[in-house]
Amino acid sequence: MGKDILILGAGFGGLEAATGLREQLDSSNTITLIDKNDSFVIGFNKFDVMFGRRSLESVKSYYKDLAAGGVNFVQDEVKEIDLISKQVKTGSAEFNYDYLIIALGADLAPEATPGFVTGGHHFYSVESAAELWPVIETFTAGTILISIFGAPYKCPPAPFEAAFQLHDYFTGKGLRDAITIKVLTPAPSALPVSPTGTAEVERRLQERDIPLLTGHQVTALDPHTNQAVVEGHDPLDYDLFLGVPLHVPPRVVRESAFGGWIMVNHDTLETEFHNVYAVGDVTKIPVGAGAVPKAGAFAEGAAKVVVQDIVNKILGRDEPVKFDGTGVCFLEFGAGDIARLEGNFLGGETPEVLLVGPSPDFRRNKIEFETSRKGKWFNQS
Ligand SMILES: Cc1cc2nc3c(=O)[nH]c(=O)nc-3n(C[C@H](O)[C@H](O)[C@H](O)COP(=O)(O)OP(=O)(O)OC[C@H]3O[C@@H](n4cnc5c(N)ncnc54)[C@H](O)[C@@H]3O)c2cc1C
Repeated sequence: MGKDILILGAGFGGLEAATGLREQLDSSNTITLIDKNDSFVIGFNKFDVMFGRRSLESVKSYYKDLAAGGVNFVQDEVKEIDLISKQVKTGSAEFNYDYLIIALGADLAPEATPGFVTGGHHFYSVESAAELWPVIETFTAGTILISIFGAPYKCPPAPFEAAFQLHDYFTGKGLRDAITIKVLTPAPSALPVSPTGTAEVERRLQERDIPLLTGHQVTALDPHTNQAVVEGHDPLDYDLFLGVPLHVPPRVVRESAFGGWIMVNHDTLETEFHNVYAVGDVTKIPVGAGAVPKAGAFAEGAAKVVVQDIVNKILGRDEPVKFDGTGVCFLEFGAGDIARLEGNFLGGETPEVLLVGPSPDFRRNKIEFETSRKGKWFNQS
């Protein structure tokens, strides 16, 4: 008898899982994919929208165009995950499952930093990136603070990529001399998990006259005085404040038996609940003093492992699977200079993240990363 496989969240992890399962399982097995949105956007396309290079519409891939025929896509919000009765409730329906894959990503909590919602901006959702473009386009002079509020956050190089691209943008407009750009992080360095990445990022920030203030935890903004409150330091003035909002587990996961970020078996990504898996940003996979990062490449890699484990179980194969915790993130220094951060998080006692490049080939690589994902998950490129 066919099985019911339910996938919650159609981002990097959910799309890869749905596509892979549909390829390998016959139609007696039902695959249902639920997401509250109608479309998917690749993480780094948010920069294209933030800098007005592409419109909001042009970066969206619609779930009505899913490439995998025979995946039931349901646009609805997941409201409850009951792991004991094996039932998921959305706003308008209930779903039972034999296998469950939770790929709900991380929720952003801009409201957790007092004053940020009214006094600041961010580029961590595509909608907020779109709102930011007219602000950047009309900014002519003053101080821009880019602040990381705390770990974990998606795509650790992203705030630095924003700084490099702001530098390029304002240099191109002849306004750079009138604008101060500073990056603040509570961490002791730019990319604590990657000494080679940190060295290159910090060197290039310095080269562009962008101070990096490490050990700087912004706790609140005062939108009336345009000042950022920094723990243990004097307040900092700003004219434009860009924050990386605190990331929290999705509400429906916090309210489930998991209670927070989902812990999984490192090899199989199965949770403590039989046949319930979790992949991507919603998981916490501790490694040394850190954890597997929240990035699309890792969510996709994890989904491939889950697909194989479920297919093996359904087809009665006794083949072990193993998530290797490897993944690559692009690091854009601006002016077309792109490097790769190549991470191996589960290959040894401590994570290893090497900076490779920059190289002109990596621009092609980055374009290919986008078109290949859109090509395999959607009927478009
Ligand atoms: C500016 C920026 C740049 C980035 N650049 C890169 C990069 O270069 N390389 C890289 O690998 N990663 C990058 N990332 C990170 C990457 O986008 C995420 O890590 C990745 O999307 C995580 O995949 P996921 O499947 O775990 O979650 P997501 O892709 O976030 O998917 C989660 C899905 O769940 C849905 N959802 C959530 N809650 C509910 C609910 N209650 N009901 C229904 N649906 C729900 C959401 O709508 C979403 O579609 C970047 C991120 C940002 C913000």
